[in-house]
Amino acid sequence: MSNVWESVEPRVYESQIKVPYAWQAGETASRFLLTLKNEKKFLGKKCPKCAKVLMPPRKVCPYCFVETGDWVDVSDEGVIETFTVARRDTGIMPLKPPFVYAVIRLDGADTGLVHLLGEIEPGAVRAGMRVKAVFAEERTGKILDVEHFKPV
Ligand SMILES: [Zn+2]
Repeated sequence: MSNVWESVEPRVYESQIKVPYAWQAGETASRFLLTLKNEKKFLGKKCPKCAKVLMPPRKVCPYCFVETGDWVDVSDEGVIETFTVARRDTGIMPLKPPFVYAVIRLDGADTGLVHLLGEIEPGAVRAGMRVKAVFAEERTGKILDVEHFKPV
């Protein structure tokens, strides 16, 4: 018995599939997103063991693996920890490239949030820059209720 690939040229069919889905955000992310929507405020959660303020909030501390405790108000201003410039349009991007994704650590938090930068040319972005959240006028309870962060 011979291997089928020795006698048949493999064919490649290109296509696309649409995969709509719904995702239960859970108690912690739901409260975070609804507070962003309704109050334009960022909430973190504090770990009772290591005392880190996790923002975005997590139900379980990823460092200690214990349930987080108190909710903590976090500033809407912070610092760019790191960033990258998106240059290629994949068709599912929130902005037209080139644009910047950054990890932003808000004042009062010990962890960073990945979000978009705006109102700045990608070439002018630097780690350590201070930025502030710009909220969407119409908010729906999604992370893009924050349109982007802009330089302070
Ligand atoms: Zn911890």
